[in-house]
Amino acid sequence: MTIAPCYLLPQLPESLAGLAELALDLRWSWSHAADSLWQRIAPALWEDTRNPWLILQNMGGDTLQRLAQDQDFIAQLDTFVSKHHEHLSQKSWFSETYPHPPFNQVAYFSMEFGLSESLPIYSGGLGILAGDHLKTASDLGIPLLGIGLLWQQGYFRQSLDDCGRQIELYPYNDPTQMPVTPVRDAEGEWLRLELPFPGRKVILRAWQAQVGRVTLHLLDSNDPLNAPADRGITAELYGGGPETRLQQEICLGIGGWMLLRRLGIQPDICHLNEGHAAFAILARAYSHMQDHGTAFPWALTATRAGNIFTTHTPVAAGFDRFPPELLTRYIAGAPEAFGVDVETILALGRENPEDIREPFNMAWLAIHGSGIVNGVSRLHGAVSRRLFQPLFPRWPENEVPVTHITNGVHMPSWDSAEADALWTSRCGKARWLGDLKDIETDFRQTSDADLWQMRSAARQQVIHFARQRLQKQLAAAHAPDQDCEHARTALDPNTLTIGFARRFTAYKRPNMLLTDPDRLYRLLNNPHYPVQLLIAGKAHPKDGAGKAMIQQWTQFIRQHPDLAGRMVFIADYDMLVAEHLVQGVDLWINTPRRPWEASGTSGMKVLVNGGLNLSELDGWWAEAYGPETGWALGDRQEHDTDLEWEQQEAQQLYRVLEEEVVPLFYHQRDANGCPCGWTNKIRESMSRLTPQFSSNRMLQDYISSLYTPAARLLAARQERATVEGISRWQHDIHQHWQSLHFGELHVQSDPGTHHFQVHVYLDDLDPDAVAVQLFANGDDTHAPEVHPMDRGDALSGAINGYNYHCTVPGDRPIEHFTPRVIPHREHCLVPMENTEILWYR
Ligand SMILES: *Cc1c(COP(=O)(O)O)cnc(C)c1O
Repeated sequence: MTIAPCYLLPQLPESLAGLAELALDLRWSWSHAADSLWQRIAPALWEDTRNPWLILQNMGGDTLQRLAQDQDFIAQLDTFVSKHHEHLSQKSWFSETYPHPPFNQVAYFSMEFGLSESLPIYSGGLGILAGDHLKTASDLGIPLLGIGLLWQQGYFRQSLDDCGRQIELYPYNDPTQMPVTPVRDAEGEWLRLELPFPGRKVILRAWQAQVGRVTLHLLDSNDPLNAPADRGITAELYGGGPETRLQQEICLGIGGWMLLRRLGIQPDICHLNEGHAAFAILARAYSHMQDHGTAFPWALTATRAGNIFTTHTPVAAGFDRFPPELLTRYIAGAPEAFGVDVETILALGRENPEDIREPFNMAWLAIHGSGIVNGVSRLHGAVSRRLFQPLFPRWPENEVPVTHITNGVHMPSWDSAEADALWTSRCGKARWLGDLKDIETDFRQTSDADLWQMRSAARQQVIHFARQRLQKQLAAAHAPDQDCEHARTALDPNTLTIGFARRFTAYKRPNMLLTDPDRLYRLLNNPHYPVQLLIAGKAHPKDGAGKAMIQQWTQFIRQHPDLAGRMVFIADYDMLVAEHLVQGVDLWINTPRRPWEASGTSGMKVLVNGGLNLSELDGWWAEAYGPETGWALGDRQEHDTDLEWEQQEAQQLYRVLEEEVVPLFYHQRDANGCPCGWTNKIRESMSRLTPQFSSNRMLQDYISSLYTPAARLLAARQERATVEGISRWQHDIHQHWQSLHFGELHVQSDPGTHHFQVHVYLDDLDPDAVAVQLFANGDDTHAPEVHPMDRGDALSGAINGYNYHCTVPGDRPIEHFTPRVIPHREHCLVPMENTEILWYR
């Protein structure tokens, strides 16, 4: 397979060929090594777009001629190209740490990827997490590839009308202007897949983007040979109705897996970033059926061990559900094509497989087809166990098989030039490329003066950015010249600068600061200790309440012309805006309604830049917060939408700002004007939290806790006999479980211990197919306990009845304990794959 970019420009001269290579590797979005090169070619375009590929596409023949003859330029280019090659072939943290890799290849499926604003195929947090995952895999040298969709329009772009209302724009993503290339087969033909849809085939075209050492494979349906409606399947991210969404998810899961097969790639791990991609489970199992000539249940048993499902949803309503009739239309061909009947597939997406009216739930499919499930923060892990409890009836909530790995962000993508310089002076250039253990102590040596200087420079930068954006916005909205003129001097580089940017949706409560407008006014307009505010965010086009909250902010700004220099709403929140904001602001505010913020990542992006967080104790902040590192909102409890509580929290927010944040920023200044209380907090937050909430830590966790065990389990299931053994066990358990029962329980207490004995009658089950355990619930003073009970003698006169026993410490009362029987088998996941459980009482 060869890859040829689709050039609009005249063929690059040989000596300039390296430009295409550099421009097509999205590594430029975090390694700024070659920035000077692009600046040299097209200073204005570089300043505006920061997109090297666009610069290349817009180069005229004259410029090419000139550069091709410029020896100095060619020499510079050659240096960058060889440095690039050097980087790609360097030993990595992964190859050094794992001389024998514990897995071959991870395929990371995601509906959206946020890598750079030059590739606008993301909407928000989920996509940016996926982008950061790929970038970090590249940095660490992890064998991983991405699978996604190349959206023709992506998510909408936002502008504001002259009343401050959101306007949604859908500019076309011209693939020739984005840093992607078509994938071509051995004959040079553009690689296309044909996906069976009801009554037709849908053609998907294959693209790829390079992210350092990692490849992102993308599919789109905008092929002229498709029917017009089908061409639009991959148009709008999170647009359209349920059928469009279903089609998109089929393209991602089934199409994505088919693409891997066509490319001859055999990942051992499929990592599903949210349930959208869960159809990959079916496609993967089907491939296994073909390769090994087995039936579907066996193929699913064999392959699911290698599937990992990361859930991001904190409420059951957040799961994608499809009416069974709709899905049935799309899988009607399954019995003939795959030998799998429709009911078998539908059952995988249901809580109760027998309920034929139950909608098909993508999260249920993902659980039924994965070996490991994880949430994205400690709190979200617990919330997910509660949400998924219905699939594991009679199991204690804390044993619902959902673990967690707290999210992190790719620090090199979010740090400012000033912060980068400071970090480099303390922790070296390779600080995010491997082990993180010395970072905290090394960075802690940074002086107050250095921290403050970095902060002041970064604040100045974001103000410069905000002024430019404001001028453009005002001009676009036909504001009077005088307003545009004022925008040049809006905001002040020595004023405490607060950032608030996020999706405008009810649970994020983006208007909490507006609860008491007069109090906000006084806060901002304090003559001695003023505060300025940078706000940004989009509301989903169908979210009327979200849009109303945007207008509430823009109205507030208009109604207070005397605050025009203190408050800016920056339109079209995207990665570029986010980057500037998180680099420059002093304080980042986040006000979600607990527990709706599964993790949240924007607050993590300010860490590396010395911004501080004031946030609800939800998601990542519930585990990161300490009084030395920032400020907290809320009481660690859930209050749903209790209005009185919302009022109280708003008061708390104002109080923390007035009494803690503002004084700390302006008081206690030393002889050089540095606020030492504030810089102490910065130092603590930067050194302690930055490594902990870096995607570097996150990926190392994924490797050791999820990818490695998943690959091991998958390997254990490669033998056909193992899988058949598991299937037989499943079948036996299913058949005999109803007849299992307990007999007598005897307890004897000695000083310091309890001795339990219980009789268990196993019907016709092999005693090795089950485990008997002694269980005690967790309470305020005790953690939950599970003790294995040993099988003793067979009960005389009974058929397959045994005496089980164990001894436990006597520090809990006897009544806390109860025996139970659960299915058990080596290389099997209980309760993930077998949810039976029998309690003594
Ligand atoms: C980081 C980021 C997000 C995620 O932010 P949260 O508010 O933490 O969910 C969303 N949008 C953009 C553009 C981002 O950069």
